Amino acid sequence: MGKIALITGITGQDGSYLADLLLKRDYQVHGIVRRSSMFSRSRIEHLRSDPAIYGHLLFLHYADLDDVTTLRRLIRRVRPDEIYHLAGQSHVGLSFEIPESTCDDVARGTLSLLEICRDLDHPVRMFHASSSEIFGKPGDHEVPQNESTPCRPRSPYGCAKVFSTDLCQVYREAYGLFVCNGIAYNHESPRRGENFVTRKITSSAARIKAGQQDCLWLGNLSAERDWGFAGEYVEAMWRMMQQPEADDFVLATGHLTSVRDFAKAAFAALDIQLDFSGNGESECGRDVETGCELVRVDPRFHRPIDPLLLVGDSTKANIKLGWKPVTNAPALAALMAKADWTAIAK
Ligand code: GDP
Repeated sequence: MGKIALITGITGQDGSYLADLLLKRDYQVHGIVRRSSMFSRSRIEHLRSDPAIYGHLLFLHYADLDDVTTLRRLIRRVRPDEIYHLAGQSHVGLSFEIPESTCDDVARGTLSLLEICRDLDHPVRMFHASSSEIFGKPGDHEVPQNESTPCRPRSPYGCAKVFSTDLCQVYREAYGLFVCNGIAYNHESPRRGENFVTRKITSSAARIKAGQQDCLWLGNLSAERDWGFAGEYVEAMWRMMQQPEADDFVLATGHLTSVRDFAKAAFAALDIQLDFSGNGESECGRDVETGCELVRVDPRFHRPIDPLLLVGDSTKANIKLGWKPVTNAPALAALMAKADWTAIAK
């Protein structure tokens, strides 16, 4: 029989891609899902609706990260070889509005899992989804960031991720646990939620092209991110867990792209060329052909503080894991916009 994996956050973007990958590699996959009144399983519906998979190779279990007794009971019963800890409130902007529950989820949730793993009587490997948000505001000499760059988080989410990332290192050193931090930069896909700027842009571009929306309102157009394709990042997570020794790895493309340029590439993939003019709140993106203002700035989407120059150096992952992302930001924008357009045009 293949290995057994347990994924927290299986219904999220990364969890769903990882489940696809592990099932293809003959794993038995167990996913932890949170009970809620809304049934949000769309990202794994293709697996759930496959009778050869669901109930045979894929199993879902109800548990909350703060329900430690249930988590412990479940992990003891399932006896996973590998635990992929991806769950937690992951929206940086939202973490300014709900900092306490973000920290409970992200920081406390990781601690609970580490404590459970520490007490297990069988060997287990754990992956922790860390984040570029731990670097927040890197110094001038810390661009791009690597595994040794000091942490200077600039959001409640980033602070919580520093706590959980450090804790994974402590448990690795103190108790010899096999725990890896994947310090992932922004990674996106057609499965990304629309509250993230990339998917907000691509889904709006498709709706604008279809005549279902007039304008896309965005915040800081000059904000830059190191955006990669989520489908490639889960491959790196799996490779980390196959290494002889646990370690931490930066996962990034090494290139910065602005929100403005991401929008240009997304609209261009749907044959709409945008031309940006104006400054600050009066900046707008016009359709070159019609002159219509399709992108405008709404200050309500500005963050209290936005990290600068978050760009990663994934040389270590390249050398040790043989991993290198191939999809750059313009290709990603095109891939996502086309997927949104196909869904609308169906
Ligand atoms: P994050 O890096 O995890 O915060 O990912 P997001 O996709 O939420 O945001 C990426 C960047 O886009 C941030 O710097 C935001 O300030 C910027 N941004 C600009 N307009 C928007 C918007 O309308 N929504 C979101 N979510 N972000 C925006």
